Amino acid sequence: MRLFDTHCHLGDEKLREHSAELLEQAVSAGVEALTVICADPENIREFDSFIPKLRALNKNITVYRSAGLHPHEAQHASPELYQLIESQLQSDAIGVGETGLDFFYDFSKPDVQIPVFEKHIDWSVQYNKPLIIHCREAAKDTLRLLNRPDVISKQNPGILHCFTETLDTAKQLVDWNFMISFSGILTFNNATDLREVAKWVPDTHLLIETDSPYLAPKPHRGRTNQPAYVAHTFELLCQLRGQSPEELSEILWHNSQKVFGL
Ligand SMILES: [Zn+2]
Ligand SMILES: [Zn+2]
Repeated sequence: MRLFDTHCHLGDEKLREHSAELLEQAVSAGVEALTVICADPENIREFDSFIPKLRALNKNITVYRSAGLHPHEAQHASPELYQLIESQLQSDAIGVGETGLDFFYDFSKPDVQIPVFEKHIDWSVQYNKPLIIHCREAAKDTLRLLNRPDVISKQNPGILHCFTETLDTAKQLVDWNFMISFSGILTFNNATDLREVAKWVPDTHLLIETDSPYLAPKPHRGRTNQPAYVAHTFELLCQLRGQSPEELSEILWHNSQKVFGL
């Protein structure tokens, strides 16, 4: 059995100094690959040196990386950062993001977030790499911006990460071939509706992730999350869908490889 944490922030200050230990623990939990998500200006500037260091720490896990600017950070968009993101998309970044819209927090205004998201959508088409989309209190605008012929005609347009939206939104996204990725939120007591969505998503469109250091699944809820904990979300997903760990882990592994074009 092998797991792929498709979304973690090992560049976050809470995790980065413990990288060696965290990778070791991930390997012990069956995690054989992960994607380190780029989110803020610091990540954009540092990942070209940070990611090779991570890769050298542990040969038993494959470390991938993305390039992009989180909607919270949209106000910091600049020609310098855009140039760096583009050069990373031309080299080893396997996904565009994280990007998207977050109208729950007010870190960047909606009219600042929207053009930055559109820029990421353009890149995903131009470089043919999947979007890694963050969406909070913004499903309507997210769907509106994604509904472009050059996006929804793609084989692998991207991932709605840390999915917490409705079944209808999931259905629309699956229609457009987006992947639906579940985080530790799936294990929270009040996530009843979300668990129904997780039962519905077709095998072909399902992914899992930690979004560490945020959103640790039960039984670690409230503590710092880490890639190894993807195993808890995975275990629950097997129960919900009535699939064996062997079967579901192969499905998820295959989907992760496919969406990132590996
Ligand atoms: Zn996010
Ligand atoms: Zn994230």
